[in-house]
Amino acid sequence: MTALESLAAEIAQCTRCLLHRGRTKAVPGEGPENADVMFIGEAPGFHEDQQGLPFVGAAGQFLEELLASIGMTRQDVYIANVIKCRPPGNRDPLPEEIEACQPFLDRQIELIQPKMIVTLGRFSMARAFPKARISHIHGQPRKIGDIVYYPMYHPAAALHQPSLRRTIEEDMQRIPQLLEQAAQMAETELPAEAEQLRLF
Ligand code: URA
Repeated sequence: MTALESLAAEIAQCTRCLLHRGRTKAVPGEGPENADVMFIGEAPGFHEDQQGLPFVGAAGQFLEELLASIGMTRQDVYIANVIKCRPPGNRDPLPEEIEACQPFLDRQIELIQPKMIVTLGRFSMARAFPKARISHIHGQPRKIGDIVYYPMYHPAAALHQPSLRRTIEEDMQRIPQLLEQAAQMAETELPAEAEQLRLF
């Protein structure tokens, strides 16, 4: 068993927060251990909870289309979530749930060592861009240590708000180039726009 597989087994048994009581299956994440890119969503929904796999519902279908638009498939990337068990009724994750689950995500990142982490939606964005607003900073990369963090809207947002579809598609198009430049990129404090907001 690989370290990532044994971590997944640990997640499947986890009782660190109350969400374990309602789950059908925990959803640790999926993808190659040596993926260059990691996508981090929010939490499993109905279909993910049934199958134990991330992004297999409507948002997942759109994510697969987005990946195809840059010549990738879900087999090329690692896909995980901030929390590994479905919140009742798909409500937002609670701070204590995020905190309880954080060591799992930290460990996944340590094991995979991706060049780039694409955060999908505000809950995963908060890791690298605390207090930022997604409408201000989406599409602006920030390098912390050896990892380029790249905030994007959650694909489900485009399903609810069609005007965001184009924005998400455009942000996705920058990923291949950013990935190529990732190693040379200098560490950044805050994305340009967040920096500007701080100055005024
Ligand atoms: N939305 C998420 O954030 N994660 C999933 O796995 C599915 C939908």
